[in-house]
Parts: sequence; C-alpha cells; structure tokens
Amino acid sequence: MKQAIATDLCRVCNLKPETIQHITTACSVIAPKEYLNRHNDVAKIVHSHLCHKSHLIKEIPPYYKYNPSSVIENESTKIYWDTLIVTDKQILHNKPDILYINKTGKYAFVIDFAVPADSNIINAYTAKVTKYQDLLYELKRIYDLKKIEVCHRFSRKTTC
Ligand SMILES: [Zn+2]
Repeated sequence: MKQAIATDLCRVCNLKPETIQHITTACSVIAPKEYLNRHNDVAKIVHSHLCHKSHLIKEIPPYYKYNPSSVIENESTKIYWDTLIVTDKQILHNKPDILYINKTGKYAFVIDFAVPADSNIINAYTAKVTKYQDLLYELKRIYDLKKIEVCHRFSRKTTC
C-alpha cells in the first residue's frame, strides 16, 4: 500500500520478515497451535469423507464439528485415526494420521498429512513415504494385503 512501516518483521513473532511463506508455514509462534489445527482440520475432512464413502457414517459433518473415532469399522472397512498401530515387530513410526484398510479388497493406505510450503512439497512427501516403510511392510504381512501404500494424492481410480 506504499505506506511507511517501522519494520517488515512478522507482527506475531517479531523475528523474521512477514512474508506469505513465513506466515503460512514458518512462524514459530503460530506453529504450535494454528499449524497443528490446520493439519488436523485437513485430516478430519479426509477422514469424514473416507468414512462416508465406506458407509461408516451416514452424513459428513462440518470439519469443525467432526470428532473422529480412533477406530471405526464395518464388515468391509477399518479406519484408524491418529492411533498407535500394534504390530508384531516394534516399529518406530506406527501412528499415522489415518490408516485405511479395505478388508474385502485386501488393500490399505497409510495417510499422513503435511501442509508444506510450495518449495518444500517434495521433501515433505519423501519424508512421509520413507517414514512409514517399516509400517507398510508389517501391515501387509499382518493383514495379508495385496497392496499397501502411503497415499499422496487423491485419484478417482483409488478409494482414497
Ligand atoms: Zn512470525
């Protein structure tokens, strides 16, 4: 707006320049609460749609009213929410945001969310895929799955 300002530092943390990138992904004051809330809100939307599509809930509530169950299941589908997944072998990263198991189709998706800056998308994706490899291997064996993967996009060709 071409107005004189005393400083270009972030008005919240007063530590770094107030850029869009800083505000949306890097402010140390906003991070502990607001970024986590944003992450959880995104995850709730996906969880509610997966449950609805799997006939586990009848209606999709607004994300701000939605309180996912840690485990929800019917005869064909089991969905874990932010729950420690018990495996025979000890796994370091065993608590993804969502674990979707299609029991009849014998496939599963580990879904873990990140809301990275554009410049960090590939790093965030690679970190998530790498993080859950041991869990994928164990789950495939335990549930005798034909296919399991870390879900990284939503395609009409898949159930997730
Ligand atoms: Zn800041």
